[in-house]
Amino acid sequence: MSTDLTRLTAAELAGKIHAKEISAVEAARAHLDRIAAVDGGENGVHAFLHVAGESAIASAELVDAGIAAGTGPASSLAGVPLALKDVFTTRDMPTTCGSKILEGWQPPYDATVTARLRAAGVTILGKTNMDEFAMGSSTEHSAYGVTRNPWDRSRVPGGSGGGSAASLAAFEAPLAIGTDTGGSIRQPAAFTGTVGVKPTYGGVSRYGLVACASSLDQAGPCARTVLDAALLHEVIGGHDPLDSTSIDAPVPSVVAAARRGAEGDLSGLKVGVVRELGGEGYEPGVRTAYDASLRRLEKLGADLVEVSCPHFEYAMAAYYLILPSEVSSNLARFDAMRYGMRSTVSSGGGVASAEEVMAATREAGFGPEVKRRIILGTYALSSGYYDAYYGQAQKIRTLISRDFEAAFTQADVLVSPTTPTVPFPIGDKIDDPLAMYLNDLATIPTNLAGTAGMSVPSGLSDGLPTGLQIMAPALGEALMYRVGAAFEAARDADDGGPLIARVPEVAP
Ligand code: GLN
Repeated sequence: MSTDLTRLTAAELAGKIHAKEISAVEAARAHLDRIAAVDGGENGVHAFLHVAGESAIASAELVDAGIAAGTGPASSLAGVPLALKDVFTTRDMPTTCGSKILEGWQPPYDATVTARLRAAGVTILGKTNMDEFAMGSSTEHSAYGVTRNPWDRSRVPGGSGGGSAASLAAFEAPLAIGTDTGGSIRQPAAFTGTVGVKPTYGGVSRYGLVACASSLDQAGPCARTVLDAALLHEVIGGHDPLDSTSIDAPVPSVVAAARRGAEGDLSGLKVGVVRELGGEGYEPGVRTAYDASLRRLEKLGADLVEVSCPHFEYAMAAYYLILPSEVSSNLARFDAMRYGMRSTVSSGGGVASAEEVMAATREAGFGPEVKRRIILGTYALSSGYYDAYYGQAQKIRTLISRDFEAAFTQADVLVSPTTPTVPFPIGDKIDDPLAMYLNDLATIPTNLAGTAGMSVPSGLSDGLPTGLQIMAPALGEALMYRVGAAFEAARDADDGGPLIARVPEVAP
């Protein structure tokens, strides 16, 4: 075969499969071979925790049969391979959430996202590595080893969805699914030169998404192009009666918006430059890329207006009270009785109590970051402290939402750098929780407000990728995709091709 199928976009692959130029099975095999070549070994990417070769081929065969019989394809992405973050339940694959406590657990049901992917004929290649229960910014908090950044394998790919993002940058999959509670889709996208979208809260079902912080968690698409992310967004998005926070409204027309954006005209649009993001605390290389991005948006015809969101300064503090509080409640379900591992306890010849078994299991099963957050959250919710911590944090959350509302009266979308730094070396921040938390300085406000955000590649700083964050009001995804696609097209044109084409070849 002359073309390397792993280098094609999802849209290109789908086009070829549906035109019968290639089969879905060939597409699946090419990506499974690529995974076999680059994912394993000492210095491998290690994006995957589980590769589901047989079921991937079986699913692709069904798509091919449907196309041959004239009854398919099932969707615009039928036959396209995808990597699924290991936080979504899958009835035929293990689901670990990157935690020892769920080692060997195979859920009895599919998440809605999983079910929609299957119904659309998307080929699920396997489950991707992540920080334990989605807490972290580097994938180093996985109980199953770190994922390496394909741009520089001594560096982290970001987190918590580092496996999903790295699988895209290593050409192991053209599409992936992530979840974003404070930045876990957008920050890894920025770190790997890929595209990641956090939809409006309630835009994609959380049913079967193992909860981190339920009021912040949101599933979303990851891809190498804005159009591919849009195609995936329309497959997974939309109302689900199984999730009580799911929005009962049509999915925004993001595919049409991405196509329109690619025409490269943003005249008449107001882009808000957030004064509080992108200045102090951001690396010089990131700021240089950001300045160039702003000039590029201007060249596309957008009007840049400076907006101020004064309460963003308190977003991190509020987030690190609200998230741990919800974590301390959500993770109570891992009680050694219902799921996964159960430690044996010797109780001096007698029978160990349920509490002893639970304590021993949680001691052995949870990693240090998860424990830290459970303890922090339990404290923040305890009587006498509740109002001072959790109550105050909720008030800040309201003020942040109001900052967004005010900003969106002055601008159609807002922008900032996605992250304060480029990908950092493995091990650099693992012993400094605060330094790790600061990765999400620019992404957290969007989660607190429940609005939409995306990261698109904005260029390299010393050979490492940076991202531009585009933020939109709730259900304002169409405009966000339009701006993202216009920016991407302009950047690619100025640079002689997509950023991702410059990722060094990951030698097997
Ligand atoms: N890095 C952030 C945290 O550790 C975000 C995590 C996420 O979005 N799941 O909480």
